[in-house]
Amino acid sequence: MDRNQKIIQTSIVGIGVNLVLVLFKMGVGLLTNSIAILLDAVNNLSDALSSVITIIGTKLAGKEPDKKHPYGYGRIEYLTSVLISVIVLLAGLTSLKESVEKLLHPQAANYTVLSLAIIGVAVVAKFLCGRYVKKVGTQIHSQSLVASGSDAFFDSILSFSTLVAGIISMRWHISLEGILGVVISLIIIKAGLEMLMDTLNSIIGMRVDSELSRELKEAINAYEGVEGAYDLTLHNYGPTELIGSVHIEVADDMPASQIHRLTRQITTDIFRNYGIVLTVGIYAANTSGEFAKVRQLVGQTVKKYPEILQMHGFYADTESQRVLFDLVVDFEADAKDIREKVLIELENLCPQMQFDIILDSDYSD
Ligand SMILES: [Zn+2]
Repeated sequence: MDRNQKIIQTSIVGIGVNLVLVLFKMGVGLLTNSIAILLDAVNNLSDALSSVITIIGTKLAGKEPDKKHPYGYGRIEYLTSVLISVIVLLAGLTSLKESVEKLLHPQAANYTVLSLAIIGVAVVAKFLCGRYVKKVGTQIHSQSLVASGSDAFFDSILSFSTLVAGIISMRWHISLEGILGVVISLIIIKAGLEMLMDTLNSIIGMRVDSELSRELKEAINAYEGVEGAYDLTLHNYGPTELIGSVHIEVADDMPASQIHRLTRQITTDIFRNYGIVLTVGIYAANTSGEFAKVRQLVGQTVKKYPEILQMHGFYADTESQRVLFDLVVDFEADAKDIREKVLIELENLCPQMQFDIILDSDYSD
């Protein structure tokens, strides 16, 4: 089963569980005159709605690429997650408002053992359903599923508090629905905001997952002839579509035919193993010969600046006596200022050479 089918199947389970819960809670809520239980039912209805949105979003996101959208429709999944986060937020705000009203004007509810038992079953069902949805979501990197799963989890806590309030009200005739409702509403609102932030971050564009970037660089470094892999960038068009580039350093006397074989092999393997479309750029490195000393000097100079994370792409041209290399500087530091300082130092050390320093962004670990 592919990823989209899995998302849809999991969402259908969510819809089914929620609709059954809605029916039961509506019945119990009307019978016992409990606003908390009725609100809970409305909340379940909104969960079923978020699962419906997930399914529609997944269907749309799975559309094949076309001329106008050659990168596919995968980013629709982010919009789905935003919508679901907003639903969670609204559910939190509504239940906060209701709970505050209940605090100010307490109303007696007539719980019965049967109604509480039904709520108890609902809590367990919701908890298990939420955990299942979230687990599948984490497995297949679906933010929408993780969002609905967390939502269901919080709802089960909300229902649980209703249950506790009901037992206390039955046993000691004290109404706690209001105060419990306020606390839980605040937790739901916080969760909704966090989900929203997570999704917005994905839309803005985030640093490549550190584990993935290290794994990719390690895999590329393992090819014979590759002396280093740098400047790895990855752009996503939805959670499963990744396109990017990397620079590799090879010996400056490697013939074009060999470079061709090497880069083709890397591109093919990375696509087959990770599904990532990777463009490979070349740095010719002269590690030996007359410039080995200059390279060593550059290395020593760069080492004096802890803000410089990496030096790569060193190339010296015999004819023009120009030396070119890249520096990756920490985002926290003033990269241009550091480049200036390194330049001045190097020009003092080897006045016969000209230095060109290119500043690379610290795209990945
Ligand atoms: Zn570079």
